[in-house]
Amino acid sequence: MLDKVLIANRGEIALRILRACKELGIKTVAVHSQADRELMHVRLADEAVCIGPASSAESYLHIPALISAAEVTDASAIHPGYGFLSENADFAEQVERSGFRYIGPRAETIRLMGDKVSAISAMKEAGVPTVPGSDGPLGDDDEANLAAARRIGYPVIIKAASGGGGRGMRVVHTEGHLPSAISITRTEAHSAFGDGTVYMEKFLEKPRHVEVQVLADGQGNAIHLYDRDCSLQRRHQKVLEEAPAPGIDPAAREKVLNACRNACLDINYRGAGTFEFLYENGEFFFIEMNTRVQVEHPVTEMVTGVDIVKEQLRIASGLPLSVSQDDIELVGHAFECRINAEDARTFMPSPGRVTLFHPPGGLGVRMDSHMYTGYSVPPHYDSLIGKLITWGEDRHIALTRMRNGLDELLVEGIKTNIELHKELVRDSHFQQGGVTIHYLEKKLES
Ligand code: ADP
Repeated sequence: MLDKVLIANRGEIALRILRACKELGIKTVAVHSQADRELMHVRLADEAVCIGPASSAESYLHIPALISAAEVTDASAIHPGYGFLSENADFAEQVERSGFRYIGPRAETIRLMGDKVSAISAMKEAGVPTVPGSDGPLGDDDEANLAAARRIGYPVIIKAASGGGGRGMRVVHTEGHLPSAISITRTEAHSAFGDGTVYMEKFLEKPRHVEVQVLADGQGNAIHLYDRDCSLQRRHQKVLEEAPAPGIDPAAREKVLNACRNACLDINYRGAGTFEFLYENGEFFFIEMNTRVQVEHPVTEMVTGVDIVKEQLRIASGLPLSVSQDDIELVGHAFECRINAEDARTFMPSPGRVTLFHPPGGLGVRMDSHMYTGYSVPPHYDSLIGKLITWGEDRHIALTRMRNGLDELLVEGIKTNIELHKELVRDSHFQQGGVTIHYLEKKLES
């Protein structure tokens, strides 16, 4: 087992990783910016190193500072968490070149999946169903692009190969708008991601976002941990997730779960990963793979009993998966509400001192948060301050527990989106299950 892990992240996920390390008897190194001295995991880690000023570019994204911290503390591995450097192949490479284990896939896999064009073609080859599209990057020839769009059928979506975080996408409904949409997306992609490569996909009008969690040890073992529904999104950002995805066609589901597992073996995947799909009319369409632990991983943990972060640590230690596919049994249902420090209506971030924090409790209730009464949410980072997760033996009980949990949850001193979640878990369409990715934005407009 790894001896000492440096946690190259902050907030709730840093605390989540620290908890897993402690359970496995692994020593921990917390790194933090000058604005983050008060973080809960910094207090609990065996060692803590300040790696720079508040700005992420000079701290959590500053590779030399992270590697120096690992050297100084004699860490054996680095866990990137999510966000920040978690899908940066150069970081993974430099970590390993400096003699540390990178807790995640090999750099070449991160690179392959980080370019959506190469990811889609690799997945297609591995038998994973993809969205009908341009099958490769778009060139400068307007006629060829118009022909591709005609073949795919309007509406189409132009997407940046290196895009992420819901940015770098443009929907085109008519032929007349295609050439300019391609060139605008290309220019934007170039300035935002340093890569102007764009591709085209059929724009699905009423899909759900359904994703498949996988674990692979890079030693010939790969498993899937079933699916999650993350359709409740605002500006392509997930707000509330559940596992398993409700009301999915059983045959289509079985097929996609197996395809994901086989694809992991095909590309010799190592670590935790997520295959993201759009699901429409009983069919799955791959859109991208996330080569890291995701924010919403707890809902899967609640229904499978598998600790995904502990498996990541085991895999990085060179151990095989602790469970096989046959061991995985789906039990009950789980929900996760992302609690953000933001105005529930305007979504403006709301940093500041938390004057009171009271997490909910009870059977099947889990609160993953680094918050405590007196903690100050700094203005420099993502506004996620916690995740409320509930489990129940069926969807109805899990949802009732979420309603109760949200009612018990008290966060005072800053604005939060708790009221929005309270509304969502009482929404009749959401209660039925299976709303599309446009549902939340439409609801917010009305
Ligand atoms: P990112 O890496 O920025 O998250 P994705 O490729 O995962 O980009 O797409 C993000 C979101 O954009 C999806 O969850 C979905 O809401 C929407 N989207 C992407 N591709 C399509 C498509 N072909 N049709 C309809 N919506 C899409």
